[in-house]
Amino acid sequence: MNRTEIADALEKIRKRIQRAADKAGRNPEEIRIVGVGKTVPVHRIEAAIEAGILIIGENYIKEVREKFEHLSRLPVSLHFIGHLQSNKSKYAVRMFDLIHSVDSLKLAEELNREAEKIAKIQDILIQVNVAEEKTKSGVRVEETLSLARSIGSLPHVRVRGLMAMPPFFDLPEKARPYFKIVRDLSRAASEAIPGVLMEELSMGMSGDFEAAVEEGATLVRIGTALFGGRS
Ligand SMILES: *Cc1c(COP(=O)(O)O)cnc(C)c1O
Repeated sequence: MNRTEIADALEKIRKRIQRAADKAGRNPEEIRIVGVGKTVPVHRIEAAIEAGILIIGENYIKEVREKFEHLSRLPVSLHFIGHLQSNKSKYAVRMFDLIHSVDSLKLAEELNREAEKIAKIQDILIQVNVAEEKTKSGVRVEETLSLARSIGSLPHVRVRGLMAMPPFFDLPEKARPYFKIVRDLSRAASEAIPGVLMEELSMGMSGDFEAAVEEGATLVRIGTALFGGRS
């Protein structure tokens, strides 16, 4: 997609978010779009930023390191949304404002160590494997609270909420029950764990973001609907 097409696509996504928010009685300003930049060349990411995208989400440390020199000069917040290996924590804390995909204490401890070295408090989300799919990362629903509690004691990591990716369905309505589970889990965690306030819910992608917004998403991660198909 070219510049104009990306700007048009963003406009359409915004309208759909607005409609979903209205339907649920939510303020649309509570919902932020994370433009998913994996495999997308920087000139197209730049077009999205010019059109008003404020956050770019990336999946692969190697790819972001290649794009970083360019991306770091743009007025955009970078989020990490892919599977993170602990040995890449050093790069992650240097490049990302929010890491959506923390799913083990070991990874959180490594992030804590690396964040301390650069005097940063790293914001993170806990990724929940809400349908317990073997092919997906994330902590199990019933282990989420105990992981949040343990991470809550690390001084250089701050839990800001949860992230989830339900199974892919042709009908987005089928993803809705999973979004509800994550929302309820986030409320339960905020109530049960002193000092942990789950304000962010990262859920919803190109195919199902309206259902996610209706169920409480604050961050929707949109790739193809914004940038077109990936090669
Ligand atoms: C690729 C990706 C997305 C975006 O998917 P689309 O269907 O292209 O919108 C969102 N979240 C994660 C974790 C992804 O890997």
